Amino acid sequence: MSQGLIFLGAPGSGKGTQAQVLAQNLGIPHISTGDMLRQAISDQTELGAAAKSYMDKGELVPDELILNLIRERLGQEDAQKGWILDGFPRNVPQAEFLDRLLEEITHQIQWVINLQVPDEVIVQRLLLRGRADDSEATIRHRLEVYREKTAPLADYFQAQGKLQSIDGHRAPEQISQQLQALVAA
Ligand code: AMP
Repeated sequence: MSQGLIFLGAPGSGKGTQAQVLAQNLGIPHISTGDMLRQAISDQTELGAAAKSYMDKGELVPDELILNLIRERLGQEDAQKGWILDGFPRNVPQAEFLDRLLEEITHQIQWVINLQVPDEVIVQRLLLRGRADDSEATIRHRLEVYREKTAPLADYFQAQGKLQSIDGHRAPEQISQQLQALVAA
């Protein structure tokens, strides 16, 4: 049965970097809904046009824009030996959708990695990163959205016995090592 990992963690927690490194080492796809949406915007697709205004404001895009994207992506050939989800699920309805989808396609979650980093460190990191949706007001708003909508997923997955909280305020190599050990165990 195919197994996957989910990366939770605030924007700027380093989850994208860690997810990418781990996916490469494991030879499985790194599936970032944020990357997929940014690609859709740059390809000027209908999805991109629909998502852009939400992303610019630091809001979550509506679930209906995301759910099919995930269903299709997890159905692709390269995801049949495992996957890492980065930036999905972002709220409880998305998590419930994912649970149903995984049951349907007989995949399962191995671990949900929660990378924990103090807020002020996150704001500084995001300001340094300087992406298009990284103005200070947008950053603060994305953190609020994270706290309100996404942080409750830690409890959701804790209740399933899947949660692994990891200290994300360390050297990236140290975090990678801990993650490697965790998935190998
Ligand atoms: P990220 O690169 O994961 O920080 O995502 C950038 C932006 O894309 C977010 O601020 C949201 O507007 C949007 N986004 C990414 N993933 C999701 C998702 N699973 N649900 C809703 N919006 C998302």
